[in-house]
Amino acid sequence: MIRAIKGTRDILPPESEIWNQVENLAREILLLYGFSEIRTPIFENTELFSRGVGKDTDIVSKEMYSFLDRNNRSITLRPEGTASVVRSYLEHQLYNDPQILKLYYLGPMFRRERPQKGRSRQFHQLGVEVLGSDHPAIEAEVIEMLQLFLNRVGITNTELLLNSIGCSHCRPNYLKILKIKLINTQANLCVDCQRRALTNPLRVLDCKIESCQLIIKSLPSILDFLDQPCQKHFEQFLQYLKDRHIKYKVAPLLVRGLDYYTQTTFEITSTSLGAQNTLVGGGRYDGLAELLGGQSTQGFGFALGIERIILLLQEKFASLTPKTPTIFLAPLGEKGFKKATLVAQNLRNQGLRCLLDFTPRSLKSAMRLANKLKTQYLLIVGSEELESGKYPLKRMHDGTQILVEEKEIFYKIENGLEN
Ligand SMILES: [Zn+2]
Ligand SMILES: [Zn+2]
Repeated sequence: MIRAIKGTRDILPPESEIWNQVENLAREILLLYGFSEIRTPIFENTELFSRGVGKDTDIVSKEMYSFLDRNNRSITLRPEGTASVVRSYLEHQLYNDPQILKLYYLGPMFRRERPQKGRSRQFHQLGVEVLGSDHPAIEAEVIEMLQLFLNRVGITNTELLLNSIGCSHCRPNYLKILKIKLINTQANLCVDCQRRALTNPLRVLDCKIESCQLIIKSLPSILDFLDQPCQKHFEQFLQYLKDRHIKYKVAPLLVRGLDYYTQTTFEITSTSLGAQNTLVGGGRYDGLAELLGGQSTQGFGFALGIERIILLLQEKFASLTPKTPTIFLAPLGEKGFKKATLVAQNLRNQGLRCLLDFTPRSLKSAMRLANKLKTQYLLIVGSEELESGKYPLKRMHDGTQILVEEKEIFYKIENGLEN
């Protein structure tokens, strides 16, 4: 028996129907806000992520699916979407368009993490990138859009956490102090953080290990180190949220796991999920394009974990049944079957969801199956019907039955068997 690889899974009906509904709703809302879809390759040159995401991140140092192809080139299954979008933006010189660019992507990402509830090795993200603007209002607009999506999908127990991690001018001052504090307490830090204290102290704030958490709580806040432009940007951003009546909590420890963020960072968490409670993570990444060898480009975006959304919706959708065919065609005998194949073609051309039974069976057995499949109507196609040109059309839930000609079927169903 060959099984799916650990950390991956099949999305089966009726769950796949929930995925469709969530994705369709997302696309609908993204359109309202002027976003267009971008589809980048699933695999990229490894260098894109080691440069774009950062060598010292968990993603690059331990979680990537990287391999040599037959030409000994190092290839990586994308662990996140932003680096690819910015690579594409630079490669196709999309910056030549004077407008700000609003892009979104939707698809699988790959990270070799320990699989647990709400976290798999192939997981799915909806991501949004706004390129070419550093206006704080665009940040508030993106968050407003997220809230609309979560509300419409039916997720309410959420918390919006915000922070600013400054810029290349003001952050170094904070990092200097942070480094000194961390080195002073180095012995009490976890092994990873002992290394991070020297290479990338900001990432210590991200550590979930308890002994580190104790130390992290006593560290100075980056918000006290912001320079004037960063402070102003953050205040304006908060004001735009207030104007929209969007509730938030400032979280000075929120730095996100990726190196390319500047100024605004944010997360939306769910109080209904366990340890893996982050639904959305995002922020501003004005430094990324340059890291990838391009011109300086302002960017703001987020990634939303679809698996966690689905997890939250599962209870709500427990009663959801897959879209069933509207009409079940029950052929009797070989001639009836031949005719039924043509009736099915005809009805589908007219836009009716239609199921043709391929197994020869009695009328009684066909009824039972139609009931089980929860189809709304059943049409009997036997030799008698062929001769008369009139077919019994039965409404399943109340047993109402009428005789119809083939060309009337669609119309009669549209009108609920009336007239
Ligand atoms: Zn700054
Ligand atoms: Zn740690």
